[in-house]
Amino acid sequence: MTGNTHIIGGIAAGLAFAQVSNYDPIVLVGSSIAGALLPDICHGGSKIGRTFRITSKIVNKVFGHRSFTHSLLFLFLMAIVMNTYISNESITAGVLIGMVSHYVLDMATKNGIKLLFPLKITVRLPLTTRTGSKVENVVATVLTICSVYLAYQTIMHLL
Ligand SMILES: [Zn+2]
Repeated sequence: MTGNTHIIGGIAAGLAFAQVSNYDPIVLVGSSIAGALLPDICHGGSKIGRTFRITSKIVNKVFGHRSFTHSLLFLFLMAIVMNTYISNESITAGVLIGMVSHYVLDMATKNGIKLLFPLKITVRLPLTTRTGSKVENVVATVLTICSVYLAYQTIMHLL
């Protein structure tokens, strides 16, 4: 999936979680956007890869694309690191939720992800699409509509 789809996926996931939790919705959504971009650090052409070129190159060389940074192991390690160093739980929850949204969206692509890394099993959903395809545009549009609705709900809740 493209960076923009991941951003909107992160927003939708963060807003959805804001409905069922007491975390700060603004911090939650901001963090979930960051979390939704983080896994593609393994890919030099991605938004985050272009921002952190050297880290991206190293991660790509060591692990390859869509393996370690797209795995439950990485999610688990991030959870431990963030629980240790970040006291704001809204940030931790947001980043993790954003990462999960990224995994789910990439599982909806033909290439899938190595969710169980270091096992070399490719995990994908039964229905998949290609990155940048018309179907991806439909997915992004649906996520946008969901986000607008959820944002409205969140704002109403805040007032
Ligand atoms: Zn990815």
